[in-house]
Amino acid sequence: MTLQTEATEGFSLELSQDQRDIQAWVHGFAESVVRPAAAEWDEREETPWPVIQEAAKIGLYGLEGLASFYADETGLTLPIVNEELFWGDGGIGMAILGTGLAATAIFGQGTGEQAGEWLPRCFGTPDEPKVAAFCASEPDAGSDVGALRTTARFDEAAGEWVLNGQKAWVTNGGIADVHVVIATVDRELGARGHAAFVVSKDEAKGIEQGAKVRKHGLRASHTADVHLDDCRIPAENVLGGKEKLDERLARVREGARAKSQAAMATFEASRPVVGAQALGIARAAYEYALQYAKEREQFGRPIIANQAIAFTLADMKLEIDAARLLVWRASWMGRTGKAFASAEGSMSKLKAGEVAVWATERAIQLLGGNGYTREVPVERWHRDAKIYTIFEGTSEIQRLVIARAISGLHIA
Ligand SMILES: Cc1cc2nc3c(=O)[nH]c(=O)nc-3n(C[C@H](O)[C@H](O)[C@H](O)COP(=O)(O)OP(=O)(O)OC[C@H]3O[C@@H](n4cnc5c(N)ncnc54)[C@H](O)[C@@H]3O)c2cc1C
Repeated sequence: MTLQTEATEGFSLELSQDQRDIQAWVHGFAESVVRPAAAEWDEREETPWPVIQEAAKIGLYGLEGLASFYADETGLTLPIVNEELFWGDGGIGMAILGTGLAATAIFGQGTGEQAGEWLPRCFGTPDEPKVAAFCASEPDAGSDVGALRTTARFDEAAGEWVLNGQKAWVTNGGIADVHVVIATVDRELGARGHAAFVVSKDEAKGIEQGAKVRKHGLRASHTADVHLDDCRIPAENVLGGKEKLDERLARVREGARAKSQAAMATFEASRPVVGAQALGIARAAYEYALQYAKEREQFGRPIIANQAIAFTLADMKLEIDAARLLVWRASWMGRTGKAFASAEGSMSKLKAGEVAVWATERAIQLLGGNGYTREVPVERWHRDAKIYTIFEGTSEIQRLVIARAISGLHIA
């Protein structure tokens, strides 16, 4: 019996030699460079520039690397790279791959010319790596992105956009050169009046880093507010071009549905990748706990000899593998242009994020007192994992998206 249907055609779980080579290469970097540096950068709560530079030197960080991962037509290479790197460490992983969100927005919504100009600037060079930031959230607009207040006004006389507002919790905010800023061009249109703008911190005046956020986890990744105060940028810095934006807004004003919203389009594309990051952290915790359970003896035998422990490990493996299947399915669907009819991207991120929080917590329990100390990494992995039920859409928002997709109803 064959289970191949139109929906599964071309999908294989047997990785190609190329995919396995990339997996082994990233794993090697994660094991030898990232993991040994992780505790230090977590304590320092600073961007690990030397590690980013090493990643850039081997081609793991940079436009060429990203383009080659993306070129895989099955869509699996990107989640594989993310899983392996985040297996090494979540905070450093985010410092290295956090630029991906802004790059996704530029690639997905920009013109070819804009991509050619701005994508290389997101990454810099191996000698002088740069990072990029994606600024959607605001103090009063997190889950409710439609409520964002940052405005973009076109100054006809100067031929420039003028941005004003405050962005919150921005990964790489203020330390990036390239900031992709979501702003409203017409507040009356709600989220349909949003557009994405590229702002170079080095060139534009009026963009400043605000307070740096001190965090529970992912502490090697920089997070900060970004202030836009009469920030002037050239007319051509709106992603997709001003003409396209004007046409879209005119259609919306006439009552047509907008095909996509500026922030949502980016999140939809990035969710499976974010799920893969959570998976990497979950797998790290599972592998550590499995080894520990075989070695740690109590009552004269290894603790894994107790069903309670062995079953926990069995469940961890089960949940992680199940989450990976959802992540790979969504990545493959996204790459091959299949519509997320049941919000498969959201499903993958939701499941992987919740599995990561649960598995890292179980790992601490399994390690007992040791698990609670900073002498072993599982407590850090648990802190790092927690963000995956919060950013890029909280678990509740993912459920909302899935519920709306499967019901066709506007569930509130
Ligand atoms: C480390 C970190 C990095 C981040 N990086 C970025 C970044 O690079 N760029 C960026 O733009 N943003 C970034 N964010 C922001 C992040 O995306 C938001 O924090 C997230 O979307 C949640 O928004 P909020 O914090 O305002 O929570 P709120 O929206 O205030 O939600 C609070 C609680 O209410 C629940 N809730 C809200 N609405 C509903 C509803 N309708 N139904 C049920 N429950 C609901 C939520 O699920 C949550 O549990 C980052 C945040 C952090 C912490």
